[in-house]
Amino acid sequence: MTDVPAPSPSSDPCPEWCCGDHDEEGYHQSCFEILPAVVPLPPGCDGEGRSEEATELSVAAYRYSHSSAVWVAITEGRQTLDVSLESARRLHACLARLLEQLERV
Ligand SMILES: [Zn+2]
Repeated sequence: MTDVPAPSPSSDPCPEWCCGDHDEEGYHQSCFEILPAVVPLPPGCDGEGRSEEATELSVAAYRYSHSSAVWVAITEGRQTLDVSLESARRLHACLARLLEQLERV
């Protein structure tokens, strides 16, 4: 069995949104957007009287070299949700609708 080398980004020009912070990793990635966030603590978790905690969300897009599929990664701590670009658009629209409803109250 022969190891197949990862595609080289150098032979696949960086898209405009690529941060260029990669060597030969086989994918292009945007710069991270870091958002302060508040998340609920799980039930039973000792939060010293708190039921929520401050954290950070990081959001970035990436695309594997020689692929047209763009993915969006939303990371909090050790958890990452990777969704397709179309899924990210639907999530964006859904959040906009939900926030509009909540702000009407
Ligand atoms: Zn790149």
